[in-house]
Amino acid sequence: MQKLYFITGSQDLYGEETLRQVAEDTKKMTAFLDEKLRDVVNIVWQPTVLNSEGIVEVCRRASNDEECVGVITWMHTFSPAKMWIKGLQLLTKPLLHLHTQVNEKLPYDAIDMDFMNLNQAAHGDREYAFICARLGIKREVVVGYYQHEDVIAKIRQFAEVAKAIAFSKELKVGMFGSNMREVAVTDGDRVESQIRYGWEVNYYGIGDLAELAGQVTEEETDAKMAAYEAEYDMNTDNLAAVREQAKYEVALERFVAEHGIGAFTDTFQDLHGFSQLPGLAVQRMMAKGFGFAAEGDYKTAALNAVLFEMAKHRKGATGFMEDYTYDLTPGSELVLAAHMLEVSPVFADNKPKVEVHPLGIGGKNPPARLVFDGTQGDAVAVCMTDMGDRFRLVAAEIELVKQPQPMPNLPVARVMWKLKPDFKTGAAAWLYAGGGHHTVVSTALTMEDLRLFAKLTDTELVVIDEETKLDELQRQLGI
Ligand code: MN
Repeated sequence: MQKLYFITGSQDLYGEETLRQVAEDTKKMTAFLDEKLRDVVNIVWQPTVLNSEGIVEVCRRASNDEECVGVITWMHTFSPAKMWIKGLQLLTKPLLHLHTQVNEKLPYDAIDMDFMNLNQAAHGDREYAFICARLGIKREVVVGYYQHEDVIAKIRQFAEVAKAIAFSKELKVGMFGSNMREVAVTDGDRVESQIRYGWEVNYYGIGDLAELAGQVTEEETDAKMAAYEAEYDMNTDNLAAVREQAKYEVALERFVAEHGIGAFTDTFQDLHGFSQLPGLAVQRMMAKGFGFAAEGDYKTAALNAVLFEMAKHRKGATGFMEDYTYDLTPGSELVLAAHMLEVSPVFADNKPKVEVHPLGIGGKNPPARLVFDGTQGDAVAVCMTDMGDRFRLVAAEIELVKQPQPMPNLPVARVMWKLKPDFKTGAAAWLYAGGGHHTVVSTALTMEDLRLFAKLTDTELVVIDEETKLDELQRQLGI
């Protein structure tokens, strides 16, 4: 189980009695928080730190502990912050500064100087926060009584984001083929991606995957077909085309397991050995949590996997999406999002249909794909671009809506949404920010999750929401 260390700061001036009380209090607090959060993360008590050596020791331990995804710090008493410098310099895990107290209310009748000296987070946390600020540490500050629901929710959110960052640091991305020829926004600096986010992005020959697909047995294919029959409506007579995708799915499962891959890309320009573009197969891989983006877009594929991981304890859909075309009816403008084939069925509002249709591009056989209408609700759409000297996340709050009319001739899964604060502002803001057509859309995550992820990974974030004004946004972008 992954864990957050709960580290309490103090000093050795207070004497044994006070320090015994600090340890007793923090053990209770840790147990309480662990009970509330153990579905996501364990909160693990650490001995009170009293000096620089102790802080160095626990920060080293946190950094080296593979199960530790982050650290919570809190000053029960005063804790002179020069003691924290060396330890914090060694800490490599996300940091949450919890500004809380053992007591919710002041004991007005009983309060004396002993109480004041024992319960002085208001004092000690300020000293500690100064050194965090001075060291320039990217951290989350959560304020309030630790038993209050809003405080627990903030710690939960931090744990989910911290787990996603830990996942990111281990993520391997497989690129079948390279970036689609001439396309700019999907490309990026893979070395820098690994330095900043941990993504090991490597190229694999699509022929190796085709060879695996050729080795899939009829029995294995039958088993996949039975799963498709159970989960979807078979809306095609071309079962041979569906069986082909079943082989691709088995081959993909094998390949990612063998290489420890958590996200992958392909490109319709490089399908040697394949008779179809992987559609149904990729859609099902996405629903299982593998990141994917098409046309060699490794950044979106990796981001997809990381955000899927972040959202895994919540209800809602998270997946790869592409802005395709608009309904420009004044006042009710909508984005129609889809992809050539690859939309994750986690977005399905109805039972997906398996269909086989020709693809107007790529020159391969008609591929099998899942077709469905999209789900509804508040969501975020996120794009990662490479600005040359840094990565930029462009994130918009959107509202997924029911498609106003059926689209019986559209042979792909589709999702529709409204932009904020209005269509023209939202779309112009996205364009000014240089956001691309590939996004990760999530109905499970919020802008606050993305803000926290961007902050803790030191990534530029451009937010587009109800408050967005184009003049302010352009000033922010320096244009
Ligand atoms: Mn695309």
